[in-house]
Amino acid sequence: MNYFLTEEQQAIQETAREIAQKKIKPVREHYDVTEEYPWPIVEELRKADLFGVYFPTQYGGLGGGGLELCLAVEEISRACGGIALTIACTALCAFPIILFGTPEQKKKYLPDLASGKRLGAFTITEPEAGSDATATRCSAKLEGNYYVLNGTKNFCSNGNAAEIYTLFATTNPARGARGLSAFILEKGWPGLSFGKKEVKMGIRASPTYEINLDNCKVPKENLLGGEGRGLSVAQGTFDISRPGVASQALGIAQGAIDEALAYAKMRKQFGQSIASFQSSLHMIADMSTQVEAARALLYSVTKAMDKDLLAAEEAAEKSGKTVYDEMKKNSSKRWTKESAMVKLFCSDVSMKVTTDAVQLCGGIGYMRDFPVEKFMRDAKITQIYEGTNQIQRNEIGAAVIKELAQKG
Ligand SMILES: Cc1cc2nc3c(=O)[nH]c(=O)nc-3n(C[C@H](O)[C@H](O)[C@H](O)COP(=O)(O)OP(=O)(O)OC[C@H]3O[C@@H](n4cnc5c(N)ncnc54)[C@H](O)[C@@H]3O)c2cc1C
Repeated sequence: MNYFLTEEQQAIQETAREIAQKKIKPVREHYDVTEEYPWPIVEELRKADLFGVYFPTQYGGLGGGGLELCLAVEEISRACGGIALTIACTALCAFPIILFGTPEQKKKYLPDLASGKRLGAFTITEPEAGSDATATRCSAKLEGNYYVLNGTKNFCSNGNAAEIYTLFATTNPARGARGLSAFILEKGWPGLSFGKKEVKMGIRASPTYEINLDNCKVPKENLLGGEGRGLSVAQGTFDISRPGVASQALGIAQGAIDEALAYAKMRKQFGQSIASFQSSLHMIADMSTQVEAARALLYSVTKAMDKDLLAAEEAAEKSGKTVYDEMKKNSSKRWTKESAMVKLFCSDVSMKVTTDAVQLCGGIGYMRDFPVEKFMRDAKITQIYEGTNQIQRNEIGAAVIKELAQKG
C-alpha cells in the first residue's frame, strides 16, 4: 500500500531494507545461536546513517522523527528483531535526553548517539520494580557535586554493548513516585558494573544484563529533567518510544509472512501447493490484513505525533526550554493513549501472525534450521517490554474514560 512517504523516508526504508536483506539475513541465525553482539552489522548501520534518522540536524541527525525511526526498525526487524535493538535501544536512551535534556546534556550526548559512535540503553526495571516503577529501590544521594548511586537494575537491553545509559533511581524514597529521578550514566564510571547476562527465548542477538551500582558517582549536571521528575521522564519517553516497539513487532510479523509464503508456494501435498488450500488462503488473508492494519495505525500515529515533536524540538532550540515542556505548551494532548494502542495492536498482531506462520509451514516451521520459529520467539517480547500489554490496556482504558468524563 502507498503511504505517501516523503523521498527522504523512502530512502531510509530502502537503505534499511537493503542492509537487512543483504547483510543481516545471511547472519541472523549465527547471532541467534551464539548470542554474540552483531558489531559488524552495527558498523553497516553506522555507515548508512541509520542511527541518526530521528535526531535533530544540529546534533548530527537527519532531522526526522518517530516515523523515520519506525521505518528503519521495521525493515531491520523483517530480517532480525534482535539486531534491530541496536538502534531501538539507542533510541530509548536518546529520547529522554531529546525530550528532557538541557542544552549542555544534548550537546554532550546526542551527537555520539546519532552517529552510532556510542550506543545507548535505558534502564528503569529492577528485580522488585517491573510494571510498578514507583517501587524503585536503587538510590541516588546528593553529596557535593555528585549523586552517589547504589542498587541493582535488571533486564537492561543493549546491556554491556551500550556506553551511555539513561537510568532511574530514587532521590527520596519517602516520596514514592515523586521521589524518582532520571540520570545519564556512562560505561566505565567507577561503581558501574555488569552482573548476570540473561539467557533468553528470543531477540538473542541483543544482550540483556543486570547492572550493579556500588557507590557510583554521577556528576550532578547529569540529573535529567530535575529531581523527582523521573516518572514524568519515563512516561514522556514511553509516549514517544512505544511506536518503536510496535515497528519491531510489525517487521517481525512481515518477516514471518515473507518466509512462510515462500515455503507454502513451493511445498506440495496431495499434488498441490499447500498455499492453494482454501484453509491456507484464509490464513494468509488474515495474516496480511492484520499486518496492513497494524502498519496503517503505526504510520498514521507516528506521522501525527511527529508534527508535535518536530515543532517542539524547533521551539526548544530557540527558547532554551526542554522539548517536553514545549510539547506540553503547544500541543493540546499527550500521546499516551495512541502510542499504547500502537504498541498493543502491533505486538498482538505480531504474536498471532508469527504463530500462524509456523502453523502454515507445518513441521518444518517448528525447526531451528528453518527461519520461521525464530520470528515467533522474537515476537513474544514485544508484548512484554516497555510496559506489558496488560499495562497498555490499563493506560488506554484510563485515557478513554478520562476523555469521556472531559466531554461531560
Ligand atoms: C528481554 C527483555 C528485555 C528488557 N529490556 C529492558 C530494558 O532495556 N530496560 C528496562 O528498563 N527494562 C527492560 N525489560 C523489562 C520489562 O520492561 C519488564 O519485564 C516489563 O515491564 C514487565 O515487568 P516484570 O517483568 O517485572 O513483570 P511484572 O510487573 O511482575 O508483571 C507480571 C505479570 O503481571 C501483570 N501485571 C502487573 N501489574 C499489573 C497491573 N497493574 N494490571 C494488570 N496486570 C498487571 C503483567 O502484565 C504481567 O503479566 C526487559 C525485559 C525483558 C524480558
